[in-house]
Amino acid sequence: MKNDNIVFWDKEKKNPKILKDNPLNKDQFSYLTTDIRPVFIEEKYLITVLFPKIDDSIFEKSVWADKSNNYFIDGYRLEGSIYNHFKKKDLSYIRKMLKSFKPTEKMIEKEKAIFNHFVSLNKDRLNFILTSKNKDKEGYSIGAEPFINEVIHQYNKRLLNISFSGGKDSIAVSNLVRRATAKNDVVHFFANTTIEDPLNYEFIQRFKEENRSVPFLEFKNEEQNFFELSETIGPPSRRKSWCCSIFKTGPIGSFYSGIKENLLTFYGIRRSESTARSKYNRVVQSPKLKKQIVASPIIDWKDIDVWLYLFSINVQINPAYRYGYSRVGCWCCPNNSTWSDILNAIYIPDKFDRWSNQLIEFAKKIGKLDPVEYTYQGFWKARAGGEGLTKAKEVKFKYKQEDELNRTYFLTKEVNINFYEYFKPFGQIGIRNDEIEKGSVNIIDKKTKEPIFKIEAKLGDKVVNIRILKNLNNHFQISENKDKVIQHNIFNYIEKQIRKFQVCINCKACIGTCPVSAIEVSGNNILPYYIDENKCINCLKCVDHFPKGCLIASALDTKKVENEL
Ligand code: SF4
Ligand code: SF4
Ligand code: SF4
Repeated sequence: MKNDNIVFWDKEKKNPKILKDNPLNKDQFSYLTTDIRPVFIEEKYLITVLFPKIDDSIFEKSVWADKSNNYFIDGYRLEGSIYNHFKKKDLSYIRKMLKSFKPTEKMIEKEKAIFNHFVSLNKDRLNFILTSKNKDKEGYSIGAEPFINEVIHQYNKRLLNISFSGGKDSIAVSNLVRRATAKNDVVHFFANTTIEDPLNYEFIQRFKEENRSVPFLEFKNEEQNFFELSETIGPPSRRKSWCCSIFKTGPIGSFYSGIKENLLTFYGIRRSESTARSKYNRVVQSPKLKKQIVASPIIDWKDIDVWLYLFSINVQINPAYRYGYSRVGCWCCPNNSTWSDILNAIYIPDKFDRWSNQLIEFAKKIGKLDPVEYTYQGFWKARAGGEGLTKAKEVKFKYKQEDELNRTYFLTKEVNINFYEYFKPFGQIGIRNDEIEKGSVNIIDKKTKEPIFKIEAKLGDKVVNIRILKNLNNHFQISENKDKVIQHNIFNYIEKQIRKFQVCINCKACIGTCPVSAIEVSGNNILPYYIDENKCINCLKCVDHFPKGCLIASALDTKKVENEL
């Protein structure tokens, strides 16, 4: 269901009204925009600091902002761009003014009255998005409440849980699921990326204290450091957001691999958030975590719908929204808007300055002509690949085609005992020290016990020969590529594993790609990357998942290079 609702200003009731069609009574309504967010007291105060003509009467008014941060004050669009006004002011003056501000009781009461009024004006819309039993394209009820119960009934063998980030969408989903099921003990999973906005950490702590009966599990990748990784492989970008796999799905995937249950996870994903998300199904097998079905009750809600629901149930919301952030979570995310960066510069100056300096140094390292502009204009968010980074050299290797079934590879890293773990997805290796010492290891078909291919390499050497021993057509079951003839692709798959071996920093992103939890990435000195052969079903999903075989290699990859000598 596409949500085509439009936001109008109700001149009589002095609040936004969500309507499906153009109103009949044109005198009462004027068009505002397609979606809108509320502006709270703290952001109103920032407007008074930045716009010379705006005075304290703004606290009496109903103020909303669209996605481009145009402000509507009592239905009238505020002339002038807040970005330009921000540039004209001294940052330390703005910081000083905002630090000294404290909302009065009167302002707080007025704000409550405005939002209560907004809810009563839109109660039909609220009722529709919560309870409608009309069916969506997938056959589920449009209303979030019946949808939740239908999905739980359908997947009743799965462990029910909620993905909780501290953002408004997950607060909405947390309340919707607990209310629809009349249960408070639904497990909440929080992936602590380690770079959450400090206000989010405060909010999560408060949420836990105020909801003690809600089981709350926190996942964190303690072995990796976002800022150190950004040094090695470059900061994440919109196209290469490696950190989500390392700091979100990686730690959750590690947890999943240790439990038997399959999961049904409710998410606050919404189609209006991005073009990629606009194509998502409402109920889907997680593309990243094989044990998880993802269900999205509010997938067709707009921002204004989420706010309508949250105001109607009167719950605590993350304070970051009060300051004007339109999304909360990682404060240094490449997907953050310029407006979020401005708010970071104002409210978390130390972190903002440190990160900006790191970005400037990175820009110098990769040879940008104007590192300051590259940083502050946000060009780093659009970058791709590891051009100019030492680590990027490990993505590449040369090979020599000896004959149709025989290639010699020239690696950037010496072969060690862990090298062979990356070949277990193809067949049985076992620990055959004698073969490894001799420098000739067969990969054995688990069913027929016949050798499939041979790896010829000496420990400590950088030259590896791979010799295919058997016709491999129909040998492997690759779910996404069932009709691919593996014979012609086997070297591509082998190369993905060689690349993994060269680049692997034990980021753990591989763990969640395995449907049978056979992969362990521990960073342990001897076998940091380990595959349990007794569990492995040779499905090759871990090989096929990332375009270059490995998340980090994909993040570092630059232009297509010819590897053949
Ligand atoms: S910074 Fe952005 S892309 Fe990276 S983990 Fe956080 S939300 Fe994901
Ligand atoms: S192979 Fe790549 S994706 Fe897998 S754990 Fe190592 S670094 Fe991460
Ligand atoms: S995804 Fe798991 S089961 Fe499949 S090949 Fe890789 S390790 Fe084996």
